[in-house]
Amino acid sequence: MKLQISSGDRQFLLDAAAAAPDAEVCGLLLGQLGRAETLVPARNVARDPARSFEIDPATLLAAHRDARSAGQRVIGHWHSHPNGRPEPSARDAARASENGQIWLIVAAGGLTAWAPHSQGAGPAQFQPVAIEVA
Ligand SMILES: [Zn+2]
Repeated sequence: MKLQISSGDRQFLLDAAAAAPDAEVCGLLLGQLGRAETLVPARNVARDPARSFEIDPATLLAAHRDARSAGQRVIGHWHSHPNGRPEPSARDAARASENGQIWLIVAAGGLTAWAPHSQGAGPAQFQPVAIEVA
């Protein structure tokens, strides 16, 4: 599994994370399977945005609608880790499910991507997804 992203979009994500050192920033990835074509920034409506994220539901609804009309799909989402940890947190694992969505994490000046796999009733396991910057 892999994720293609443009160098401009990669830089946008790094800049967005750098501009918010005290809160997780988040948004949606629209495109085709394995290729992010459009980034949709979203408000982080989590109660504790320093340590978690929750994409504004209104943005989520609009993104699904916009993706359909553009012949795209919502292929995943991105969020930043102000603590610099590049891997999904325990909090991320607790709410992830195996639904084909890619988790893109911006941390420490880089990007990592992950695909959740459900393990029974426990927290999801994340498998790394290779990122290709084109
Ligand atoms: Zn996280």
